[in-house]
Amino acid sequence: MKVIKSIPALKSAVRRWKSKNRTIGFVPTMGYLHEGHLSLVRASKKKADVTVVSIFVNPTQFGPKEDFRTYPRDFERDAGLLEKEGIAVLFYPDAEEMYPGGYKTYVEIYDLQDKLCGRSRPGHFRGVSTVVLKLFNIVRPDYAFFGQKDAQQAIILRRMARDLDLDICVEIMPIVREADGLAMSSRNTYLGPDERKAGLSLSRSLRQAKTRIDAGERRPDVILSAMKEMIAAEPLAMIDYIEAVDMDTLEPVKEISEGTLIALAVFIGKTRLIDNMIV
Ligand code: AMP
Repeated sequence: MKVIKSIPALKSAVRRWKSKNRTIGFVPTMGYLHEGHLSLVRASKKKADVTVVSIFVNPTQFGPKEDFRTYPRDFERDAGLLEKEGIAVLFYPDAEEMYPGGYKTYVEIYDLQDKLCGRSRPGHFRGVSTVVLKLFNIVRPDYAFFGQKDAQQAIILRRMARDLDLDICVEIMPIVREADGLAMSSRNTYLGPDERKAGLSLSRSLRQAKTRIDAGERRPDVILSAMKEMIAAEPLAMIDYIEAVDMDTLEPVKEISEGTLIALAVFIGKTRLIDNMIV
């Protein structure tokens, strides 16, 4: 596996692959890899001739009071995991490489960026869309892989690819969970033992919602208030939002139906966890 830190070096590797008509799969990450990330890597390896993984903790998607500085990082471990997966190239730029002095250009995906997580993280999706468009222009992938775990992010990036006529197939892959149901996340490492237990209330509330929906319940208010009640019973949990929305517009639905996205964000102590399911 080659570790490439410079944009020109990565672009020249891409040119070589393109000249041989190799298809390129791309998995952007912020590192501190877990099985959720690796599931995307494996999906890419299956679909594309070569796979590029990027590790970049993107400063522009963190708010001033968020965890950019303390975000978990372990490059050696990540590189070892990717080496084992048989990845061709790991792109590992630093912030100066991605945002050199004088940087001025940002991408905004109107409306979608302001809903759900966008409400409590202003500017977050502007940072995400900007860095991903930059990475797309550098890697020029045929396929890009994102996790349903960050459903709003995936929906926004799919919208961006359509709206800006990018010839990139955006693939959204299922949420990978721990054995007890907690959605895997690099931020789970912040949780102490009691918080870890309280964090299970997110997936538990989604399972309960699924049982009710399977039994025929279609009213969002009934489903969402039962979820709220379950989570509110956890003293360590503070709900940011729980919503049932349309998968394309992220607007709240009047009736739950196939394809409705039920998404939630909950603070467990200082850690903000997210989870969701698609009905
Ligand atoms: P991150 O490193 O958190 O920016 O995540 C990089 C990619 O991995 C994103 O597309 C995430 O949605 C995806 N991802 C993170 N956690 C999971 C998970 N538990 N299951 C599936 N995909 C995930």
